[in-house]
Amino acid sequence: MHAPLIVGGGPAGSAAAIRLAMAGLQPTLLERSREPEDKVCGDFLSGGSLAALRSLGLDPAMLGGHPIRRVRLLQGERTAEAALPFAALGVSRRHLDAVLLEAAAQRGTLVRRGERLRGLSADGRVARLTSGESLAPRTLFLATGKHDVAGALRPDRAGGAVGLKAYVRLAPVQRAALAGSVEVVLLRGAYAGLQLVENDRAVVCVMQDRSAAPHRRSPADEAGPLASRDVAALLADLAARAPALARRLEGAVPERLRPFAIAGIPYGHLHRTDPADPTGLFRLGDQACVIPSLAGEGIALALGSGRLAAETWIGGGDAARYHHCFSRAVAPPLRRAVGLHRLCLGPAQAWVVSLAGWIPGLLPLAAAWTRATRLG
Ligand SMILES: Cc1cc2nc3c(=O)[nH]c(=O)nc-3n(C[C@H](O)[C@H](O)[C@H](O)COP(=O)(O)OP(=O)(O)OC[C@H]3O[C@@H](n4cnc5c(N)ncnc54)[C@H](O)[C@@H]3O)c2cc1C
Repeated sequence: MHAPLIVGGGPAGSAAAIRLAMAGLQPTLLERSREPEDKVCGDFLSGGSLAALRSLGLDPAMLGGHPIRRVRLLQGERTAEAALPFAALGVSRRHLDAVLLEAAAQRGTLVRRGERLRGLSADGRVARLTSGESLAPRTLFLATGKHDVAGALRPDRAGGAVGLKAYVRLAPVQRAALAGSVEVVLLRGAYAGLQLVENDRAVVCVMQDRSAAPHRRSPADEAGPLASRDVAALLADLAARAPALARRLEGAVPERLRPFAIAGIPYGHLHRTDPADPTGLFRLGDQACVIPSLAGEGIALALGSGRLAAETWIGGGDAARYHHCFSRAVAPPLRRAVGLHRLCLGPAQAWVVSLAGWIPGLLPLAAAWTRATRLG
């Protein structure tokens, strides 16, 4: 039996490789980067992500991440805080992805790093690599995440959302204040997530939706694009826009000059099967579904999709069957996350935080509602 060819060594591709290898198969996985890399992501591993790791035989404790049990939502001088309804972990994506890919290799996956899929033929059957090689796998697991591939473009990728990320060393008093919590700061047309990851580093990850009309009382009140040319400028801009960030980032030392950045994030995308789709093309992770970052559930969906695709294929199912099962499981939390994302970006954002402060169960409820528990 020829195992599927997996393209992309993020959480989705690695999870699929591990699950196939658990069934005694030896898949090949192509990953374009030669070495582990940082990725634009808030580095928040939800309860669903941790459960998905366990279901692949991996113990999250070996990641050495920063334990997170609380969530704080902030806007202006308003704050709402609550315990999360699950234990979470802060782990840098460079570390997580390296561990997952290594686990896949140890279990028998042939990992070919530095191999980039350039495009698929019109019928989706032939994969052309930038090295010039052409492959014609019977089954292709497309797990290229945030990066689209010619011949298999996602339709909604023209969205205006931009992601920016930086690692910083916080001042000791701010590090202590942030420990154990994830903070989500609502800005005009944007939100920022802050938390600690392994080795007490802090990650600052920002999503700015430039397609969402910023709510403004006067033209002068409009917030323009965030400064993204270097991390110091980005931090200064964030501090100027939100008092909570000004306090948290006081004395913060960036780890590198340039922020990591990504544009055109198609929030809300969910791949629906079409009779014209090639039967052997399975889309995994962000190629199948893009849940708003606010939910902190993208990695859980990526890991779950990898496992589900592998199990469907092992059971003799085709791509249409996999996509049907996947979209049934993720559509409800995706819808709720998109609704929450819009609410938090829109003119009611101050009300959202005030309400979450007044009604203690609201934040945990929102966190629970945006989990893809049916994928588990
Ligand atoms: C701003 C922002 C913040 C986020 N924060 C969180 C969070 O805190 N928690 C959370 O759970 N989710 C978060 N997410 C979502 C999460 O990052 C994604 O859902 C997750 O990374 C998807 O995993 P994946 O394996 O599908 O893709 P990716 O993680 O994007 O991995 C894809 C892999 O494929 C490789 N690749 C790409 N193109 C090719 C090619 N042509 N050939 C070969 N290899 C290729 C890449 O190098 C990469 O290794 C966030 C997303 C954004 C944009």
